[in-house]
Amino acid sequence: AQDLPHLSPSDPTASALKYVEDASKGQGRKGSDACADCSFYQGKTGGAWGPCQLFPGKAVAAKGWCVSHTHVA
Ligand code: SF4
Repeated sequence: AQDLPHLSPSDPTASALKYVEDASKGQGRKGSDACADCSFYQGKTGGAWGPCQLFPGKAVAAKGWCVSHTHVA
């Protein structure tokens, strides 16, 4: 699953969720939230990209972010 195509920020769903590859540019992001610490992220710890449950068939950036970010418990 590590070789999935990267999610495009301009993908309609990604755009609707304000997904960015650089979390520091996230509109409304809280603290240091990023895909790497999101409960929907399925990537390996330390990896740069990984699958997200909200975007089947795509890989999101570990350092990315979107408005659906939910911090892992
Ligand atoms: Fe990243 Fe989580 Fe949004 Fe998926 S739901 S793109 S892992 S912040």
